[in-house]
Amino acid sequence: MRLRETMVNEIIAHAQQGAPEEVVGILAGSNGRVEKLYRATNVAKNPRQQYLMDSREQLRIMREIESHGWDMVGIYHSHPESPARPSQTDIKLAGYPDAVYVIVSLKDRQKPVMRAFHIEDNNIREEELAVEK
Ligand SMILES: [Zn+2]
Repeated sequence: MRLRETMVNEIIAHAQQGAPEEVVGILAGSNGRVEKLYRATNVAKNPRQQYLMDSREQLRIMREIESHGWDMVGIYHSHPESPARPSQTDIKLAGYPDAVYVIVSLKDRQKPVMRAFHIEDNNIREEELAVEK
């Protein structure tokens, strides 16, 4: 997945603003390149431990993405207190095998860590994140 450095900074800023709760958003673009980031609302019952997008909001975002001729390239969410790898819940609830799951960890406050994964059938595979200037 390729994305601009400004988007990386935007995702980190979103995560920091939302802490101690997890934040979530959608990355839209084509051919693995992110063109736009959409923040979404985390409506999980325990938002400090997991994320869940509001379904109506997600539908609205998906329609807008389609109107641009883009795809949902990825879904990002934050881990305010844990490392940047999918939790058991993340793996269990991952419903989009074609999307890249981007996780930003704020465990080290001074040094946020961002990693990306494919999640399919309970298997995870790390995906390279190419950051463009
Ligand atoms: Zn997670």
